[in-house]
Amino acid sequence: MLFLLKINSTITSISSPPGRGGISVIRISGPKSIEITKKLLKENNFSPKPRYAYFKTIYSTQKNEIDKAIIIYFKGPKSYTGEDVVEISCHGSTIITQNLIENLLLLGCEPADPGEFTKRAFLNGKIDLSQAEAVSNLISSENILSTNANYKILKGDFSKKINKLKVEILNTISLIESELDFSEEEITSTTLDQIKSLTIKSINTNKLILETYKTGKLITEGATIVITGKPNAGKSSLFNSILSEERALVSNIPGTTRDAIEVKFQIQGLPVKFIDTAGVRSKATKIEKKGIAHTKKFIEKADIIINVIDSSQTTEKPFSQLEKTFKEKKFLYVFNKIDLLGEKQGFKKKGGVFISALKGIGIDKLLKEIYNSLKKDVGSFNDVLLINPRHKSSLEKLNSSLKNTLNLCEDNSPTDIIAAELRLGLSNLDDIVGVTTPEDILNNIFSQFCIGK
Ligand code: GDP
Repeated sequence: MLFLLKINSTITSISSPPGRGGISVIRISGPKSIEITKKLLKENNFSPKPRYAYFKTIYSTQKNEIDKAIIIYFKGPKSYTGEDVVEISCHGSTIITQNLIENLLLLGCEPADPGEFTKRAFLNGKIDLSQAEAVSNLISSENILSTNANYKILKGDFSKKINKLKVEILNTISLIESELDFSEEEITSTTLDQIKSLTIKSINTNKLILETYKTGKLITEGATIVITGKPNAGKSSLFNSILSEERALVSNIPGTTRDAIEVKFQIQGLPVKFIDTAGVRSKATKIEKKGIAHTKKFIEKADIIINVIDSSQTTEKPFSQLEKTFKEKKFLYVFNKIDLLGEKQGFKKKGGVFISALKGIGIDKLLKEIYNSLKKDVGSFNDVLLINPRHKSSLEKLNSSLKNTLNLCEDNSPTDIIAAELRLGLSNLDDIVGVTTPEDILNNIFSQFCIGK
């Protein structure tokens, strides 16, 4: 409630990143945006045309020149927040921006809370909650795939899917209610069948959205790839070769790579986390055993396990015990040191990638193989994706309600109870777009934004 009172206030903050830069942008939003800007310019008759750039000298309340800057006025509701907004693009000096903010506060602005511009945009109906969340995610995206996916959500493509599902469920509820209004008796078995088939349709629509979470999670959180194999197989060398820098300890003394090393990078825009683990071998010393237990912990979390095999060792058994232990995991066999022997035909038949970590041979092919293997399990990166765990949880709750609805229909339950269950399910969609989201959840979402958004 505190926030709703504050919405009459005029807020300001720096909207560009903190620090030095070519320019910095200071945003002002609220009913007094223009009135306060006029005071900065010493121009009482300043009456800017919306969306026009004005090159002006900015003064302090003490009438000292602060900077020359570009001022753009966005008249509400055609602005980011839906309110009157002024954006001042000044020189990107921390002294100038700080000075400007201090003067704006003296002239009646209040400092914006984290995410307050976006929160106002949401409260003024410019965007829904899922779009507001995408603003923050878009800004913090670290790869092109996740940026594109969040951009689609911000554009409203995800909201469209949610609203379509909402209409489907509302139509089912209307069917129940209109029938009851009409007959004042229990609904017919024909209508009950109709409700069931509409509910099954909604379950399927919901399922299709939920299924995109796997892709969404992969592009936002990335894949975990664990490099494993016996000591001396060339794990660290492979790791270094991939990264083209000495980030892992390379040694020919068996069992020396005991601590796992983790490095993040991208394959064709797909974020991956490589973990170089301690060597796995059967007759390990006590200290090595610790490392092996450690490896298994990482394997449990891995999306792909790269098993490095020294192809120059004829005694080497290519397919490991690990694969038997972690049957559900994806293993990729990498036959290393082909510079010593050439490709071994026997191994080739069973699949795998042939490389020389030392000479950098086959690394591109390996990365391609990893990418294809990850891509195989997920949908298109270009789809509108479910990314946000909060949305996923709401859709899962909706799924339970829809399944309950079906059970209630099977049991010939009273129709008002069936309708109530559907309404309960529907409320989860309202939570996603922010129609009924409680204030504390809203505050929690926006508090995770940075100042200026
Ligand atoms: P790790 O114990 O599995 O991490 O193995 P290392 O990466 O420390 O490598 C063990 C030894 O094999 C080192 O002396 C490496 O230089 C050597 N080695 C690694 N990859 C290759 C390769 O492709 N060809 C050759 N000839 N030697 C390699």
